[in-house]
Amino acid sequence: MKYYILFGPPGAGKGTQAGSMAEKYNLCHLSTGALLRSEIAAGTPLGLKAKALIEAGELVPDEVVEGMIKARCESAEGIDGFLLDGFPRTVSQAETLKSMLAERGEEVTAVISIMIPDSLIMERISHRAMIEGRADDAAPEIVENRIKTYHEKTEPLIEYYRNEGSYKEIDGVGTIEEVRGRIFETMEG
Ligand code: ADP
Repeated sequence: MKYYILFGPPGAGKGTQAGSMAEKYNLCHLSTGALLRSEIAAGTPLGLKAKALIEAGELVPDEVVEGMIKARCESAEGIDGFLLDGFPRTVSQAETLKSMLAERGEEVTAVISIMIPDSLIMERISHRAMIEGRADDAAPEIVENRIKTYHEKTEPLIEYYRNEGSYKEIDGVGTIEEVRGRIFETMEG
């Protein structure tokens, strides 16, 4: 099994690129953000707990997303691997993922990291706010807090995966097709 992590700051284009990556390499795409949004829409207890945190630009607790990922990585029939999008987002989540995979004799295949500058994050998210209407895109203060949360809690993962030797960085500035091309090149290289 392949275990790819799709990494990057908010608005880097993870969700945009994930579909074609999953299709081309026969991967099951698991987006913690999308899973959380569907829990919120369904009004589940988990969704209720996550809603306020997400809409404040904070992370939800590690155990919550870890539970979601564990449950969904169980069945691997008919696929060649998983594309984890939005997970891990903290070093602690990365440690949990590592031991979860080690139990199966597996490891992270590669971390595909799409990088864009903070200035572009704001621009892309305010554009997306008009199209998708996500509550956590709605106000600049929320987006600013997401960027801050990213730098504080998620960015240390770059060093973590560099040390593991699985970190591959891609320039996320350019058209969707340009970035997709760079991703495919990296996955094949
Ligand atoms: P984006 O990549 O655009 O910031 P996502 O759709 O991946 O957004 O995630 C939306 C929100 O869901 C995050 O800001 C965070 O609050 C929550 N979330 C998603 N994944 C995780 C995670 N692995 N750990 C904690 N919170 C998460």
